[in-house]
This record gives sequence, C-alpha cells and structure tokens, in this order.
Amino acid sequence: MQFEEGRLLKQVTTFGIGGPAKYFIEVQTIPQLQEALAHCHQQKLRYFILGKGSNTLFSDSGFEGLVILNKILFCEQKEGEFYVGAGYSFSLLGTQTARKGYEGLEFASGIPGSVGGAVYMNAGANGGETFHALTEVTFVNERGDVNVIPKDKLTWGYRFSCFQNQQGAIAAARFQLTPSSEARARQLGIIDYRTKTQPYGDSSAGCVFRNAHGGVSAGELIERSGLKGFSIGGAEVSHLHANFIVNRSDATAQDVIALASHVKKTVSEKTGYDLEMEIKVIPYS
Ligand SMILES: Cc1cc2nc3c(=O)[nH]c(=O)nc-3n(C[C@H](O)[C@H](O)[C@H](O)COP(=O)(O)OP(=O)(O)OC[C@H]3O[C@@H](n4cnc5c(N)ncnc54)[C@H](O)[C@@H]3O)c2cc1C
Repeated sequence: MQFEEGRLLKQVTTFGIGGPAKYFIEVQTIPQLQEALAHCHQQKLRYFILGKGSNTLFSDSGFEGLVILNKILFCEQKEGEFYVGAGYSFSLLGTQTARKGYEGLEFASGIPGSVGGAVYMNAGANGGETFHALTEVTFVNERGDVNVIPKDKLTWGYRFSCFQNQQGAIAAARFQLTPSSEARARQLGIIDYRTKTQPYGDSSAGCVFRNAHGGVSAGELIERSGLKGFSIGGAEVSHLHANFIVNRSDATAQDVIALASHVKKTVSEKTGYDLEMEIKVIPYS
C-alpha cells in the first residue's frame, strides 16, 4: 500500500489542531479498507480510523502510526431504506432524507461528522440518536474480514456504541426511515436552532463534555460556573455555547487539554458535578 508520510492532522480535523501522522492513507472502497487494516495487523502497526475529525483532538506531536481516512462515500436508497458508506456526510444524509420526505435522521442535519463516526459515537441531538434508525452495520475487523452485523447483535447507549470497545472499522450502515410529510420542516427547524445556539463559524469539535448524571446539561453547569469566554492560550470556552471549546487563534492540543482540565475542576468545585470528556483525545503513541 502507498502511504503518505507526515500529513498534518490539523488539516483533517474540525478543531484545526494536530501534528503530522507518521503514515496516512485515504480509503474509498471497502476492499481498500480491508487491505489497510490487514496490513496494520500483519505489520503490528498502530492505526486510527478517521471520519470527518469532528470529535477528535490529535496531539501536537501528531500520531505515531497509520491514520486511515474513511472516504467510502456511496449512498443507495430503496424506498425508506438507506445503505450508506461510512465516509458519507451524516449531515448531508439527514438533510437529503428529510428533503425526500423520510423521518428518523432529521437530527443529523448540522452534525458535521461521517456516518461511521456517528455510528461509533451514537451521535444524537434534539431527542434523536443514530441507533434509533439503524438496522445493520457492515464492519471490517482488524484482520480485514467483512461482517454484516444486525442491530440486535449490537449494544449502544448515550454517546456510546459497542464499536468503542472493538478493533476494526465501520465500513457502511443501513437505516430504515419512515415516510413523513413533516420531516423537512422539522429538519429545517433543527438546523435553524443549531446555527443560532452553536458556534458554527468557529473551529471546534462540538460538545467537549458528556452531559452529567441524570441528563444534567454540561453546558449549563459550565455556564453556571462562570466559564463562558475563559481562555488558555488560543483555546476559549465559547461565548455562545459553554460546552464548546473553540480554537480562537492557533490553539494547541495542550491549550485545549489545559482548558478542559480547568473547566472540569471549576465545575466540580462550584456545582459538585464530575464532567467526563466526550471528545476523543488521541495521544501521539
Ligand atoms: C459544530 C459541531 C456540532 C456538533 N454537534 C453534535 C451533535 O449535535 N450531536 C453529537 O452527537 N455530536 C455532535 N458533534 C460531534 C461530532 O460531529 C460527532 O461525534 C460525529 O459523530 C463524529 O463523526 P466524525 O466522522 O467526525 O468522527 P471522528 O472525529 O473522525 O472520529 C471520532 C471517533 O470515531 C471513530 N471513528 C470514526 N469513523 C469510524 C469508522 N468508520 N469506524 C470505526 N470508528 C470510527 C474514530 O476512530 C474516533 O474514535 C458536533 C461537532 C461539531 C464540530
């Protein structure tokens, strides 16, 4: 396989942060993904599956292994059934399905991840989550074998899927949606609300922390702790949505980690809640 060396990971993440990957490859088909994973297995090479990098914070030193950028982009429709490559835009899928008059993925509109990243994270918003409409996942294991896994063999929860405990990669997902004359209006309402309440113009990785136990909003806890606008280096707690850290001016991963630690400590002291990170912090080695 032909690997690129030294690709800057800040170019492929929405945070705009991250040093060079030792090796980097873009896969556009399931056989290419199989080949890349089998190669890593044979060579005992560490790897990282990257979608749109909208929930990932890479180290300033980069990644000492192979970053596999998922660009498997097909989207096949048969009435309300959508079979979609894991690299396909989750936001686009949410918009397109609602526009075609199907409900179940309206919430995805505006989530800037890939379908694979959304399944891995069980991404959700506005009362919806990825696993609601999911029926099946095409998965490539670390040896490069393809398995089609029905939903009843999978486990999931709040921003959790069983794939977080597995080696390998999601190659495609199948969703079953329901015809609805209201889906498009609902999706437009969701995108309108998002752009008013979240810092879309800034570089970020979405919500930094998971909501606290009992579903208490992490954003509200951070705001109540007086942290909106607080900054360390180039990283700043968003003025618009307190659970977003934005890359204000050439922030480093260290700036973001130091700011997140400060937020966690302050929220714990002021409210008694212990926040857990939602974004994936990826060390160099
Ligand atoms: C402005 C903004 C708004 C956001 N709003 C929301 C929201 O409303 N709700 C929400 O849930 N999230 C939200 N997010 C976070 C993010 O978009 C989601 O978590 C998304 O699902 C991540 O997808 P991705 O492809 O970018 O994942 P990446 O950041 O590329 O990867 C995240 C994790 O998933 C793994 N992964 C990715 N693709 C695969 C694959 N094919 N196979 C196996 N593992 C894989 C990676 O290895 C990594 O561990 C937001 C982010 C931003 C920047």
